[in-house]
Amino acid sequence: MDGLLCYCRAGFEPDLAAELGDRAADAGLHGHARTARGDGYVLFVGDPALATHLPWRSMVFARQSLRLLAELRGLDPRDRIAPIVSALEALRVDRTPAYGTLWVEHPDSDAGKPLSGLARSFGNALRPALRKRGLLAGVEQPNATRLHVCFVAGDHALLAESDPGASAPWPLGVPRLKLHHDAPSRSALKLEEALLSLLDDAQRRDWLRPGMTAADLGAAPGGWTWVLARHGLQVTAIDNGPLRQHVLDTGRVEHLRADGFRWQPPRPLDWMVCDMVEQPARVARRMGDWLREGWCRQTIFNLKLPMKKRWLETRRSLDAFADSAAVPLAVRARQLYHDREEITVHARRTD
Ligand code: SAM
Repeated sequence: MDGLLCYCRAGFEPDLAAELGDRAADAGLHGHARTARGDGYVLFVGDPALATHLPWRSMVFARQSLRLLAELRGLDPRDRIAPIVSALEALRVDRTPAYGTLWVEHPDSDAGKPLSGLARSFGNALRPALRKRGLLAGVEQPNATRLHVCFVAGDHALLAESDPGASAPWPLGVPRLKLHHDAPSRSALKLEEALLSLLDDAQRRDWLRPGMTAADLGAAPGGWTWVLARHGLQVTAIDNGPLRQHVLDTGRVEHLRADGFRWQPPRPLDWMVCDMVEQPARVARRMGDWLREGWCRQTIFNLKLPMKKRWLETRRSLDAFADSAAVPLAVRARQLYHDREEITVHARRTD
C-alpha cells in the first residue's frame, strides 16, 4: 500500500486532505485522501513518490507524515503480534537493515486517546518479537528508519515508517511542553513550540541571541514577550491592553500603547512577532510590509482561521504575504499542537 499516513488536530482532516490533494497535484503525483472528520489522521493513498515530494517539514496541517506500508483490519486481540510480524516480513523481503526504533501510536482524537494504554503495553510486547525476527535493531538506533504501528481501533492498525531526519521527532507529532509557572498566558506555549518546531537547533542558537531586538504586536498580557525576554531579547511590546507587571520587571521590555497595524520601529529590529486577532489576509499583508521595508529580519506570526475552508485561506494568506513582502523569503507554516483554529508562520529574509 503506497501513500502517506499523516496525523493532524481532530477536526482538521478536511484541511489536511485538501492540502495533500493540492500539493500532490502540484507535484504531478496521483493520490486520494481517505479520512473522516474527527479521526485525527488522514490516509493519502497513491503514488509511491508522495513521501519524497511531500516532506513533513513542508506541510502545514500535518503534525506528522509517515510512509504508509500496510493496513491491518480484524486483528485478533489474543494475538496482534503475528499478523504484524508477517506483514512486515512480506514487505521487507530483501530489505535490510532492521528498523532502528519502534513507536506504537494512536491518533490524537476522541476514539484514539483511549488506545494509549494498549499502545504502551503492545509496544513492550512487540519489540522483543521484532528483534527475534531481525526486524528491529537490538539496541535503539535513533538515526535509522523508524517503524510506526498506529492503532486506530483495538483491532485495526496502520503500519508506516519514517526517516528520523525528515519527520517530526515526537511521538504522535506532539511536542510535550509544560507551561512555566511564571508564564503570563498559555499563549507562551505557542511561541515556545513555534521556536522548537519551526527552527532547528542551530537556527535557535544563531538567531535568538541575548541582546537582539524584537517587537511583539498584540502583546498583552505578555506571553510571547516573556518568552523572547527569557531568551535575552530586548522587546517592544505593542498593545492597548495591559502587560503583566512581572514581564515589565524583566527590564527587557518596553510597553507602547499603539495600533499594531500602524506602528513601525524607529530602527530595524532582528525580530517581529505578532499574535493579533484579525483577518488572516490583513495580518499577512502587514507582516509582508515589515519584511519588505526591512523593519525586521525575521518574524513569527499567527494567522487565525475561524472559517471552514482553512487550507484555501492559508494559501490565499501566504500568497498575500509573499506578494506584499516582494523580497526572497524562507517560509515555514504549521498548525502547532498549541494552536487552535490558527496556524503559525516563520519567515526570514534570505537576501
Ligand atoms: N501573544 C499574547 C500572549 O502571549 O499573551 C496574546 C495576544 S492576544 C491573542 C491578542 C492581542 O492582540 C490582544 O491583547 C489585543 O489587545 C491585541 N490586539 C488586537 N488588535 C490589535 C491592534 N490593532 N493593535 C495592537 N494590539 C492589538
